[in-house]
Amino acid sequence: MEKNQLLRNLPKIDELLKEEIVVNELSSTMRTIVVESLRETIDSYRDLILKDDIKEYSKEDILKSFLELLSDKKGSNFKKVINAAGVVIHTNLGRSLLAKKALENVINVADNFNNLEYDLKKGQRGSRYSHVEELIKKVTGAEAAVVVNNNAAAVMLALNTLCKDKEAIVSRGQLVEIGGSFRVPDVMTFSGAKLVEVGTTNRTHLYDYENNINENTGVLLKVHTSNFKILGFTEDVSVEELVEIGNKKDIPVIEDIGSGTLVDFSKYGFTYEPTVQESIRKGADVVTFSGDKMLGGPQAGIIIGKKKYIDKMKKNQLTRALRIDKMTLAALEGTLKYYLDESEAVKNIPTLHMILSSKEEHKKRAQRLKRKLQNKVNNFKFALEEDYSMVGGGSMPAERIETYVIKVKSDKFSPQELERKLRENETPIIIRVSNNEVVLDLRTIFDKDFDTIVDAFDALD
Ligand SMILES: *Cc1c(COP(=O)(O)O)cnc(C)c1O
Repeated sequence: MEKNQLLRNLPKIDELLKEEIVVNELSSTMRTIVVESLRETIDSYRDLILKDDIKEYSKEDILKSFLELLSDKKGSNFKKVINAAGVVIHTNLGRSLLAKKALENVINVADNFNNLEYDLKKGQRGSRYSHVEELIKKVTGAEAAVVVNNNAAAVMLALNTLCKDKEAIVSRGQLVEIGGSFRVPDVMTFSGAKLVEVGTTNRTHLYDYENNINENTGVLLKVHTSNFKILGFTEDVSVEELVEIGNKKDIPVIEDIGSGTLVDFSKYGFTYEPTVQESIRKGADVVTFSGDKMLGGPQAGIIIGKKKYIDKMKKNQLTRALRIDKMTLAALEGTLKYYLDESEAVKNIPTLHMILSSKEEHKKRAQRLKRKLQNKVNNFKFALEEDYSMVGGGSMPAERIETYVIKVKSDKFSPQELERKLRENETPIIIRVSNNEVVLDLRTIFDKDFDTIVDAFDALD
């Protein structure tokens, strides 16, 4: 057909709105979304005609395109994905999953009015921080606590409160960037603290700090270099040593430990990582850490330490801008409750459970998933192999956790193509490609998602 004729024949929106398929959609979808999808569909056909990309079309074609577009628009942009990459704390995939108590708490406070800032004993205004402060004190051994939006905010608030227009002494080896958005020097600048770098990348000595202390020194800062390890000829000053000089000169020591491990992982066969409790025990005045890394809770920044410093932070106007919301508080409380009994924490907090679950457990699960795949899918080859998962989240950088994976071979798709196809699945499946092979790591895959994975391969078969 001739181009002008094709354009003239494109159906009108009003006409399409009378089609049975469209009428059916209108019963469950907002009219504006339906109309917008129709309009965009017609527009896209007009473009294709103008570019000579199509020479014919039917009304059925148009309605089919409309339904596809509508289904995209109806769905949420913010979706569930399946993490088959084997990175437990995956910052791009939302870090920690919430434990059951945390989820229940969130629903309860989000679905009802609540005592967020209301003291039910006194019948007057209360503090939102009270809901978790006692719990944090009990679990960490600290004198006081306050909670903000994330750990970047925690570090900023601590520095702004204790070191504004003063000097913060920090080792050059600790001026790290974490997750591409948290850069220690930048956060320090924003806080109003003046950065004084001491020592060298690989070695910093106690005298480096001592020699730089003067009447303008506000804090001694120690940052846990959570996402990398410097090996070899290294020297670092311990928290105890910093506390000793800090006490002598009456200068507070702030330690940003980042991951915020509350459990001593060396008990479970991992390399020792300093715990939150240990920092407090060793005398750090202020300790900051994330809620959604090794703690396994919601995104939050937890600040603990000496009451006189925490009280000052609570009064800082910045705290209002960085304040934590009710759903996060509810999730944090639910998560922290498990820590009252470590065995409960390890069993019920998904992040901890995933890190500590055994390779034998995942071998059995991998065998089960592989059988399911082989029963349904013909044109892919699946092989069970031993491999390593990662903790992620800038935590335990050197730690590789033994796991079992399914390696996928295909004659039809390159690993990169298969990666993209799986990512474009209705429930996206995020895999890793290692040694030019597609790998499904069982450590971060749940049994409840096995069928979705099988269906995705089946659709590509
Ligand atoms: C992750 C991390 C941060 C940033 O924490 P967020 O909760 O992501 O804001 C800061 N410092 C250290 C040492 C970290 O590991």
